[in-house]
Amino acid sequence: MNYNKKTIYDVDVKGKKILLRCDFNVPQDKETGAITSDKRIVAALPTIRYLLENGAAVIACSHLGKPKGEWKSKLSLAPVAQRLSELLGQEVIFAADIIGEDAQAKAAALQPGQIMLLENLRFDIREEKNGEDFAKALADMAEIFVSDAFGTVHRAHASTAGVAAYLPAYSGLLVDKELSIMGKALEDPKRPFVAVLGGAKVSDKINVINNLLEKADTIIIGGGMAYTFKKAQGFQIGKSLLEEDRIEYAGDMIAKAAAKGVRFLLPVDNLCAAEFAADAEPVLVEEDIPEDLMGMDIGPKTAELFGEAVKGAGTIVWNGPMGVFEFDAFAGGTKAMAKALAESGAITIVGGGDSASAVEKLGYADSITHISTGGGASLEFLEGQELPGVACLLDK
Ligand code: AMP
Repeated sequence: MNYNKKTIYDVDVKGKKILLRCDFNVPQDKETGAITSDKRIVAALPTIRYLLENGAAVIACSHLGKPKGEWKSKLSLAPVAQRLSELLGQEVIFAADIIGEDAQAKAAALQPGQIMLLENLRFDIREEKNGEDFAKALADMAEIFVSDAFGTVHRAHASTAGVAAYLPAYSGLLVDKELSIMGKALEDPKRPFVAVLGGAKVSDKINVINNLLEKADTIIIGGGMAYTFKKAQGFQIGKSLLEEDRIEYAGDMIAKAAAKGVRFLLPVDNLCAAEFAADAEPVLVEEDIPEDLMGMDIGPKTAELFGEAVKGAGTIVWNGPMGVFEFDAFAGGTKAMAKALAESGAITIVGGGDSASAVEKLGYADSITHISTGGGASLEFLEGQELPGVACLLDK
């Protein structure tokens, strides 16, 4: 996979109409539909400002929520247009449709330095189906395509990949940052390269482990997924999370790591509970977990072992919490990992989703090199998969 893609700095945008795929999939209040965090809109500003200041006319587009082809007023992008307008300090022309008459008329009249926003792309079922006619209609409104929504680059949708069949395609500044930092970490990492994986399921991360076994010097596994590996090693795991059908795979991975000289670390002690509950009494046990208990977090010895293993690393990628961090009593392992990364001095990359929110919630975000904005996309990145929304961009 080539991550070295042309960016908006590599093209003259003056006087050009740009179709800009943004990630305006903002969290909303369930009752009122009000935007509860404008972080994603703020994140899009550098690319938008650059384009407008350099004389482009910007036709922005995004999805919001999962309307599945239905027109749902609660998922209209109108409030996003308003917030974007406040942040930019200029009018954001809002189209009442996506590729319909209103959008086409407004796009045709759009002048350099002006910006408009199309209605929610996923109001049309052809967006997610990558319908050719839909992609072409989107593309027909513009002369250049800019992709700046990293969270959707792993999807081959009309606005993320389809339009690139009709327009020259460049990355925006957000996508470029993801590609240059994560791409470099995977292709040519500063060593030692340590991967820290956690979360609930082995099955979600099989391809990540396969790929990282080829690249990392050390692989650390915590969280619920660790127990399938412990089981494969012959330990008792009590009522902990177990994927029976992955035990053999887990054993194979441990053997493969040993054969390749990749250090493979698993928990050596566990904070357990008798039931999966926030107020469950934490019980510290060593490697074998009694029948009536389940592993809910890594224990202090493990936190120390993992912490030591990231010290002196050149690059660390982390995806997935070390325990049930949503419950305070079992958040300690995830906190310790976040702190260890923040203090490591390494290039640190935290995948989207739970580990990213843990790092942010714990106040370590500023000490991390890069927190990916895409949960699913960053996992597929770590899997070494071809991302359709990246593959379609022009190579440098
Ligand atoms: P994932 O989406 O696969 O990254 O998994 C995240 C989820 O894994 C979080 O909701 C955690 O509560 C959960 N998790 C982490 N460790 C454990 C564990 N030991 N037992 C059960 N769930 C866990």
